[in-house]
Amino acid sequence: MEINSIAKGIVIDHIKAGYGMKVLEYLDVDMSKNTIAFIMNAISQKHGRKDVIKIENLTNVDITVLGLVDHSATVNIIDDHKIVKKIKLSLPEKVTNVIKCKNPRCVTSTEHHVPHIFHLVDEETEEYRCEYCDDIVKAGER
Ligand SMILES: [Zn+2]
Repeated sequence: MEINSIAKGIVIDHIKAGYGMKVLEYLDVDMSKNTIAFIMNAISQKHGRKDVIKIENLTNVDITVLGLVDHSATVNIIDDHKIVKKIKLSLPEKVTNVIKCKNPRCVTSTEHHVPHIFHLVDEETEEYRCEYCDDIVKAGER
C-alpha cells in the first residue's frame, strides 16, 4: 500500500507492529481536526513489520510520551514536502500522569489530586519507580 507523503505535518515511522493504536491514543490527536493516515503491518526494510502514522498539519506532539509507548519509533517533522527534523525517541527520565501506580496503599491511589510521577530506573528492562511508594512498573505493562 502506498500513501502519498504529506506536505506538512508529522510522520511516525518504525512503530512496532501492533503499537500504532497505542501511539495514537497517547498522542491525543484531535481526530475531528487532523487528517490521519494510519498504516498497519507495513513491511519494514529494517525489521519485519511496522506501523506508520502520518498526521497532517500537526508538528507539536509530546515526544516524551511517545518514547514511553515505543522508543524504537522515529519521528519525522515534515514541512514543504521535506523532512526538516528527525527525532530519535528514547525512554523519558521522568513521566507525569502517564504510568499509573497500582499500589493500593500508595498516596496516588488514595489521594486523587496527587500526580502520578515515575522515574526511570533501568533503561534495558524499561522499569520505572513510583515517586511516592517506590513500586516498580514496567513501561510496556500499563
Ligand atoms: Zn506509588
